[in-house]
Amino acid sequence: MATPRRVVFQDGLEKDFPKMIPKHCEVCRKTDSLMRCSGCSVYYYCTRDHQAHDWPTHKPTCKQISAKRKDVQAEEDKIRARGGLLPWDDPNVNGVFWRHAHLRPYLQAKFLYGEFLVRSWRRQGVEDSLKEYLDILRRNRPDNQGARDSVPGLSIRLGQDQEAYDLIYWWGRKTTQKGFDWADLSQPFLDDKNVDATGPVDFWCPCFLQLTPVVALYLIKFRLLQNLKGIKRLRETTPPGSPTPTREEILSVLKDKYQCVGNTIDHQPVVDFYHNESLLAEKTNHLLQQMTQLYHSADNYNKHMWRLITDPTEEAFSALPAPYTPGSWNEAQIVFAHLYSAWAESVAAVPALRKVIGNAKAATA
Ligand SMILES: [Zn+2]
Ligand SMILES: [Zn+2]
Repeated sequence: MATPRRVVFQDGLEKDFPKMIPKHCEVCRKTDSLMRCSGCSVYYYCTRDHQAHDWPTHKPTCKQISAKRKDVQAEEDKIRARGGLLPWDDPNVNGVFWRHAHLRPYLQAKFLYGEFLVRSWRRQGVEDSLKEYLDILRRNRPDNQGARDSVPGLSIRLGQDQEAYDLIYWWGRKTTQKGFDWADLSQPFLDDKNVDATGPVDFWCPCFLQLTPVVALYLIKFRLLQNLKGIKRLRETTPPGSPTPTREEILSVLKDKYQCVGNTIDHQPVVDFYHNESLLAEKTNHLLQQMTQLYHSADNYNKHMWRLITDPTEEAFSALPAPYTPGSWNEAQIVFAHLYSAWAESVAAVPALRKVIGNAKAATA
C-alpha cells in the first residue's frame, strides 16, 4: 500500500499523494530475504504466502507492467530476427536509432515501459525506469522522444543527485554551443563525471533556458545546501576537544541523523568543510546565490512554474502532455510531471520554496 502524503491543492481539494515505496514486502514490510515478483520484477514479497495474499490487489498492476516489458522484448526479437549486424553493435547506428524507421517501435516500447514502471510508485520501478531512459539516450542521442527530461527527476528520487547534476551540466554546457550536433557520434556523449555541484550555474545560459533542467538543478542545489547546513550544525553541537570526525562519520551523521539526502555531498571535501568555517560559509553563500539566480531565471521564463510545485492544482496531476508555448501553464505542467515527485520526496524542499516565493513577492510589492 502506498504511504500517502497529504497535498492541499490550490483549488482547496486534498488528495493523497503517494511517495516512493521502498523495497519491502508488500504485506508485512519486512526488508530482508525478499523475493521479486517474477511477473513485473518490481514488487517484493518475503514469502509465497504473502505474495498470494497480495495477488488480488497487485494483479492489475503486475499484468500491465509485464505486458509493457514483453512489448520491449517482442520489438527486440523482431530486430534480432532481421539478422545482419545488430544495431547495438553497429557504430553508425548505435546512437541514432530513431533515424532507422524499423528501430523506432523498439524505442517507443521502451519509453512506455519506463512510464509504467514509474507509475508503480515502487523504488524498484523508479530504478528500472531510469535504466530504460538512460538506455534510450545512449541508443538515440538526439532523443526524439524527450527521455532526457525524465532522467533528472528519477535520479534525484534515487539519491543520485550527482549523476543528475553531471547530465544537466553536460546538457547545458555542450549542447548550447553553436554548431552542436546531437547526432555526431564521433563526439563524446554525457562524459562529464563528478562535476563540483557547488559550481556556478551559468552553463544554463538564460537565453537558452529549458525549464526541466533548471528546476531540477535548483532542487539538487537545495539538497546539497541542506547537507552543508548539517555539517555546520554538527560542528556547532560537537563538544570542544572531541576527536575530529572522519569523512565517513560526517557523511553518516548527515544521512542517518539529519536526514540529509543526495550524493553530491559524497564528492565534496566534507572534512575541510567541518574544519574551515569560512570555506563552509563561502560554499553555502555560493549555493544560495545560485539558487536565487535559478529561481529568477525560471520565474522570468514561466510565471506558473514555482507556484505549481508549492501549490499544485489537481489538474496538474491529471493533465496529459499537450503542445505548449514557452511560458504557458502547459509547459509548467510538463515540467511538474517530470519533477514533482522528486520535490515532494525531498524533506523540507517544498516549504522552503514556499518561503522563497513569499520573499520574492514581498520584494516586488
Ligand atoms: Zn511479508
Ligand atoms: Zn508483479
